[in-house]
Amino acid sequence: MSKVIAIANQKGGVGKTTTAINFTASLAYMGHESLLIDMDPQSNTTSGFGINKNNLEKNIYNVLINDVALEDILQDTIMDRLDIVPATTSLSGAEVDLVNMSDRGKRLKFALEKFHKIYKYIIIDCPPSLGLLTINSLVAADTVLIPMQCEFFSLEGLGQLSETISALMQSYDLELEGVLFTMFDSRTNLADQVVEEVKKFFKEKVYETKIPRTIKLAEAPSFGKPVLLYDPSGKGSQAYIDFAKEFLLKQNME
Ligand code: ADP
Ligand code: MG
Repeated sequence: MSKVIAIANQKGGVGKTTTAINFTASLAYMGHESLLIDMDPQSNTTSGFGINKNNLEKNIYNVLINDVALEDILQDTIMDRLDIVPATTSLSGAEVDLVNMSDRGKRLKFALEKFHKIYKYIIIDCPPSLGLLTINSLVAADTVLIPMQCEFFSLEGLGQLSETISALMQSYDLELEGVLFTMFDSRTNLADQVVEEVKKFFKEKVYETKIPRTIKLAEAPSFGKPVLLYDPSGKGSQAYIDFAKEFLLKQNME
């Protein structure tokens, strides 16, 4: 069986997509068959792998709405052991089109059923909202991974965020995979203070590995590559490999 992990945070710009791309690439690099699903209409994960959205006849929208089989839109990527389910901006229409469908929250879960034999890890990049696309992602997922930007604003509403997560976990039979700090700047005291505060809420669920702020991570998508292929020896690559190692170690302990 695959483990299905949704990467979610209601805030935009916190590093969900960057983590989806580079965490999945690290898992594949470390030998695990992995599938990356783009559930965000912004479709940055899709373009981050150099896929030209204008050339896509069908995408995840058609799987959710028109019963197109997932294998018909699945694509190879430049990384071994990593396949992608692409999205385009047309996916934004799914929020409305799903509303009147039966099983509207379970469409992705059903579409994934026969892929559990094929992939060890299925990673879902969620949009920054709690609409039906995110609900489909959470229903399909076993766990949720929360990237968090290491800044003062992350502390605002932290109590509310942890309550929302508890509620979601109950409703969708989900577990919290963990909280990953992104865009970390170790030169500031503030960063350490933010980490300490967040640990009060999420305790051992906060990963030791922190993803540093580095321009290479921001540049890599414009070359259609995960950072592992764009800047293999850089600190962005190293951080996501370290994170994948920490993640895998935790899997072995469960
Ligand atoms: P989200 O998917 O949550 O909206 P993104 O992954 O798209 O967030 O990140 C938001 C912006 O920050 C993007 O421009 C991205 O390239 C940049 N970014 C993300 N992580 C890092 C990092 N560790 N260092 C530098 N820039 C980053
Ligand atoms: Mg994103």
